Amino acid sequence: GAGTVIIGASHAGVTCAAALREAGYGKKVTLISDEDVLPYHRPPLSKGYMTATVDYENLCLKGESFYKEEDVSLLRGVGAKAVDPAAKTVLLADGGVVAYEHLVIATGSRPRPWSGAKLPEHVYSLRTVQDADRIAKVAATTSGAVVVVGGGYVGLELAATLRVYFKKEVHVVEAGPRLLMRAASAALSGLVADMHVAAGTTLHLGCGVSAIEDHNGVVSGVVLANGTVIPVGMVILGIGIVPNQELAKAAGLMCDDGIVVDHALRTSDPSVFAIGDCSRFPVGPAGQTMRLECVQNAMDQARIVASVIMGKPQTYAPIPWFWSDQLGSKFQTAGMIQPGMACITRDTPKGGKGAFFHFHADGRLGAVETVNAPAQHMLARRLLAAGANPTAQQVQDTQFDLKSLLR
Ligand code: FAD
Repeated sequence: GAGTVIIGASHAGVTCAAALREAGYGKKVTLISDEDVLPYHRPPLSKGYMTATVDYENLCLKGESFYKEEDVSLLRGVGAKAVDPAAKTVLLADGGVVAYEHLVIATGSRPRPWSGAKLPEHVYSLRTVQDADRIAKVAATTSGAVVVVGGGYVGLELAATLRVYFKKEVHVVEAGPRLLMRAASAALSGLVADMHVAAGTTLHLGCGVSAIEDHNGVVSGVVLANGTVIPVGMVILGIGIVPNQELAKAAGLMCDDGIVVDHALRTSDPSVFAIGDCSRFPVGPAGQTMRLECVQNAMDQARIVASVIMGKPQTYAPIPWFWSDQLGSKFQTAGMIQPGMACITRDTPKGGKGAFFHFHADGRLGAVETVNAPAQHMLARRLLAAGANPTAQQVQDTQFDLKSLLR
């Protein structure tokens, strides 16, 4: 039979192929990738890969042998150009046509483009291994300061790497009032800001970029909204991502800042699924939807779809988690930080290790941010999954064993 075709071979797509085989799927599995390298982990690109502590072999999601042994046909360096849901076929950029019984769209996301004029040289976003190689090369071979536009996780990780490893003068410019507005609490973002300042990075908060200047086509300065001009040799744009939904939209699938799916991650066409950064899924009973941009989401959704294709219905109800490594510290978040949550501190996250516990107004535990405390992070995930609700006193009392709430 036609089997399953997966478009996009990264965290979501490769995990889905592997999960199908693990579950005993006997039909054809085809992975279509517009990148021409072996599928790889993205998180190290701003961390260990840049500092040469993760080499190319360890960057790969699976070794070359996986695709052979598991009979997954990986089409590299060829994009999917169109999907015909009526004919159940995918048209490839090289003119080839692949038929499917089930289609999984795992096209991910791309850096949000800079609005405005054509960008000069030495202005980069980071998404692919080629981007990382280019940034590392230019950082090592050019002088001058670096401005990182955007105080999100990817921008800050890169800022840390450029400051500590490449010894650059680094400025982070963030239009919002604090770093990590979307993904971290005020408590954690304050701690992260202090660490970057201590490392010698200059933060410009509450301040947008009004222009990027060049000299003979190479970036030379960044003009801030307050009129300050920072002379630079390189600029990193870390202003978020947009989901790759154009292919799905052109095929008539419902899209709304992401490919819209149901609890089983099915699109508006029942033979077609969408997973990972490109997917917008329902959360809670009140009809809200969301996208998540993390490895946990890509991998968990991939496993759910494999199970649904195998005829075992499942619904996706995530407890999101992700991590960030910066300046020698490990930050991990379980659950979703939402505005208005009450924050209770456990141990000493500032300058040591500990956690911020965040509670909804009704006292339910909503999220836990840990600093250099991986065991506490794992425990937090179990507490959230079990719906356990420690009291503020129990959180503050480091002698109290939070594990006891699981029994
Ligand atoms: P992607 O990884 O975006 O992969 C989609 C793939 O599909 C790409 O290869 C793309 O080229 C391909 N594609 C798109 N369109 C087509 C087409 N038409 N035909 C064929 N192929 C196509 N998350 C964490 O949880 N922790 C971290 O520490 C972390 N750090 C990060 C650091 C960096 C620098 C970056 C960029 C991301 C980081 N993330 C992190 C986010 C994480 O990498 C993403 O959430 C994850 O990669 C999503 O996986 P995905 O498979 O959905 O999409």
